[in-house]
Amino acid sequence: MNSYGKQSTNLRDALVVGWQVWRKSLTQGPKIQEFESAVAKKVGAKYAVAVSSATAGLHLALLALELEPNSEVATSPISFLSSSNAALYAGLKPRFIDIDPETLNISITKTLQAISESDSIKALIPVHMAGSACELEELSKAAKAKGVAIIEDAAHALGGHYSNGQPVGNCAFSDMTVFSFHPVKSVTTGEGGVITTNREDLYRKLLRLRSHGINQLDDPLVDPILGFTDGKKNLWYHEMQELGFHYRLSEIQAALGVSQLKKLDKFISKRRKIAKNYDLLFKDFPGVYPIQTHARDVSAHHIYILRIDFSKKSISRHELMTRLRSAGIGTQVHYRPIPTQPYYQALGYTMSNIPEALDYYATCLTIPLHPKITKRKQRRILREMCQLLA
Ligand SMILES: *Cc1c(COP(=O)(O)O)cnc(C)c1O
Repeated sequence: MNSYGKQSTNLRDALVVGWQVWRKSLTQGPKIQEFESAVAKKVGAKYAVAVSSATAGLHLALLALELEPNSEVATSPISFLSSSNAALYAGLKPRFIDIDPETLNISITKTLQAISESDSIKALIPVHMAGSACELEELSKAAKAKGVAIIEDAAHALGGHYSNGQPVGNCAFSDMTVFSFHPVKSVTTGEGGVITTNREDLYRKLLRLRSHGINQLDDPLVDPILGFTDGKKNLWYHEMQELGFHYRLSEIQAALGVSQLKKLDKFISKRRKIAKNYDLLFKDFPGVYPIQTHARDVSAHHIYILRIDFSKKSISRHELMTRLRSAGIGTQVHYRPIPTQPYYQALGYTMSNIPEALDYYATCLTIPLHPKITKRKQRRILREMCQLLA
């Protein structure tokens, strides 16, 4: 079983609630709005838009900015593919900025430098890696001064906080934040995503874009003559005002989301305890290093990552992972640096500017973290790893 296996119990509870709601309601009902309000309230944002996935959310967020084609979007090489693929979907150019090896997020210094030196970077997608927030205050000042938008990829960070104690997603230092409710994330809707923002213009645009580009709320009509009879808006009338998508979440998924959100804080506090316990267990383990320890009290703890100096060990990462799997311990590598992927290689990306990301990739290992893991299992993981890495 991998580190995410225990998600199924939470999902089962949520499915029961979802099933009850589905039997009672029509396919288009009030659950989406309830879910959106719950997320907006949870993270302290004005608006939330539920979409079919975080990938869809990143795509729409970039489209909503209406950037010039081929504008550059700076993001982290250490992320899931969606962070930069979204830029490609939107006809924009990803630019990878190296990570800070302590935080695993894009280096603030290098990002500031890139923004100041380049006029082609028009958006920034910082990724809150493993749930530990990329600090945005300074970045946002520099970005604002140069007209660069910020979209936070918070797929790992629902329920997490910045070091100043504010919740990730309140968009105090960004234009939009995107969350994922994919089954491997802390709370899930089966599949799903949410974009939060404080800007009404973006909120309205996102609502249209997720539903074929059709006018929503009280959007002004392009053709009021066709739209009205005797001064009243025709009940059937709608306008496709731009090219949108079908990126909606369903009612049943929203119902799962509402019930799952209620458990978020409990899940995170359990995950935090487990992460802190790993920190203690691995503290004196030679050649094995806990990371992101500075953020334990604020991180959403999506995953727990160790760095292991495999060059000094007699066992390869592949062999270690294989043996651990035989012992019932699922591990993973998060992530292969995106520009090393064949598709990105074919686009001409090189790795010369991301040495920290490459070094991180060679040494990282994600070990099991989920709310139901016991201290005893953690000790067993330590024991197995001690034996294999001796
Ligand atoms: C999971 C993930 C996504 C994509 O989420 P989906 O909801 O599956 O589209 C994007 N970015 C990061 C960092 C992720 O981990």
